[in-house]
Amino acid sequence: MDDAAVLKKKGYILGHTLGESSFAKVKSAYSERLKFNVAVKITDRRKVPNEFLEKFLPRELDILSMVNHCSIVKIYEIFETSGKVYIVMELCVQGDLLEFIKSNHGLPEEVACRMFRQLCCAVKYCHDLDVVHRDLKCDNVLLDKEMNVKLSDFGFSKRCFRDGSGKIIPSQTFCGSAAYAAPEVIQGIPYHPKIYDMWSLGVILYVMVSGYMPYDDSNVKRMLRLQKEHRVLFPDSLSMECKDLIFRMLQPDVSHRLRIEDVLNHPWVQGKRLKARIL
Ligand code: ADP
Ligand code: MG
Repeated sequence: MDDAAVLKKKGYILGHTLGESSFAKVKSAYSERLKFNVAVKITDRRKVPNEFLEKFLPRELDILSMVNHCSIVKIYEIFETSGKVYIVMELCVQGDLLEFIKSNHGLPEEVACRMFRQLCCAVKYCHDLDVVHRDLKCDNVLLDKEMNVKLSDFGFSKRCFRDGSGKIIPSQTFCGSAAYAAPEVIQGIPYHPKIYDMWSLGVILYVMVSGYMPYDDSNVKRMLRLQKEHRVLFPDSLSMECKDLIFRMLQPDVSHRLRIEDVLNHPWVQGKRLKARIL
């Protein structure tokens, strides 16, 4: 049976393609039960590597069924046929953040601040549950019709393990994409996964307010050297507070990198500069 027939049996009328990658494709569909459009992520078991099938896909399904937050994409139903897994979720009609940033050539700080705060609330919710995302990037941040952020793609996420004294056990697996990866991850050093997420969030904020990447990942060796020297080149137009926040997230020393609570309490995220300007 093809996708359209499988979905029809479940009460969905298949629509157009929203996104495609090597492991999955995402399509829109109309739900006859819900009476509105949804998105369906279809993963073909035969086309994905074994490690993905045995390790990452079960984690993605487990975590998606567990999380429930207004800034995380809502899951309506997950079902499987012998060959494929279908994740039915909320449709984010405005697409992903990367496309939105590209078409606007970067976002005004006021717009970025609102979206970034929503994204941070989603990450805080996950981190409080000891869930890490490990693939935070603009393509995995979706936007609904009111331009609200919905964190998505938990394909590399996992629950943290703790040792006997309650300390989080470092992760070993390389996850995410090089351009958003922290220096400790690029170097293959066992890393604290929540602190890794914080680096990627710093890259996302940089891309939001500038319209381009902070580091060029076409030469990973050079990129790593710049990261370890804590060199970040900012556009002149950025506010001091915004630069300060990004700089503290793109901190190569993991013991000094901001945690999610610090980011939510930072003056830029709190909108203090913007309020001060209005008064
Ligand atoms: P992958 O694991 O292959 O990266 P994603 O879950 O990130 O898959 O989906 C790939 C792309 O499909 C996203 O970057 C986005 O453009 C689009 N997409 C995914 N989910 C949705 C959704 N719920 N609504 C709208 N577009 C989506
Ligand atoms: Mg993705």
